[in-house]
Amino acid sequence: NHIVRLYARLQKAMADIAREHKAAIYEEREKIRIKKQLTNNINHELKTPVASIVVCLETIISRPDMSCGKRDEFISRCYSNALRLRKLLDDVSIVTRMDDGGATVLKENIDLCAVISETLRDFEIRAADAGVHINIHRPETVMMTGNAGLLLSVFHNLLDNAFAYSGCSTVDINVDNSDEDYVTVSFSDDGCGIPQEHIPHIFERFYRVDKGRSRKAGGTGLGLAIVKNAVAMHGGIVSVENRIPDGLEFVFTLRKS
Ligand code: ADP
Repeated sequence: NHIVRLYARLQKAMADIAREHKAAIYEEREKIRIKKQLTNNINHELKTPVASIVVCLETIISRPDMSCGKRDEFISRCYSNALRLRKLLDDVSIVTRMDDGGATVLKENIDLCAVISETLRDFEIRAADAGVHINIHRPETVMMTGNAGLLLSVFHNLLDNAFAYSGCSTVDINVDNSDEDYVTVSFSDDGCGIPQEHIPHIFERFYRVDKGRSRKAGGTGLGLAIVKNAVAMHGGIVSVENRIPDGLEFVFTLRKS
């Protein structure tokens, strides 16, 4: 009897090990699949700006008699494509670092409101030029444990998108610090919103509602994926919905400690 019981326990232990092993293999395969997909997407995204830079430079080199005006035009096209490449590489580097160990992201005692102020300073001129009014409701300070760089890219990406795509006249940022453990931020614009069928996908890497428009606006298709990951790394979640009558609203939470 004792031996039968031992045998049953042994069998169960072996089945458990096999199950865990299978799950680990599945997880590893999934990681490889995601990395492969990222590499394919990056290759695809690199092709157009690199090809454009090569064509511009070849044209400049092969036509030494080209007018100064024309040459400036080609140089400026080269420059904007180089900027696009740099933005893409910066975003890819953020995404890869997130994949390779989000847990190792350095967190310190920071003031979320100072991060928001810094972002707003970066957008001051753009907002004035575009005639966009940014309303902000927030407490004096919100102290939390976080990574200021990552949180800065959350606000940067959301504001950048509101300017690039929504055609809005107002952006509202509301910071609610009434909960003991979490701070909740809502970020909304009164622009065009997103067709409902795209809403479930917009946090996916390289997903764009309008590919041409995104590329023209200097988008990499990684902005909202970075937002989602950065929020998750702060123990929070982010959601998005169209507002009635117009605009888009993002709401996200961040764990304070
Ligand atoms: P991109 O680099 O293209 O900006 P994102 O991941 O930041 O990539 O955004 C994904 C897509 O969501 C964008 O291409 C754009 O079509 C849409 N989008 C994002 N924010 C807004 C907004 N505030 N209003 C309208 N559309 C938006």
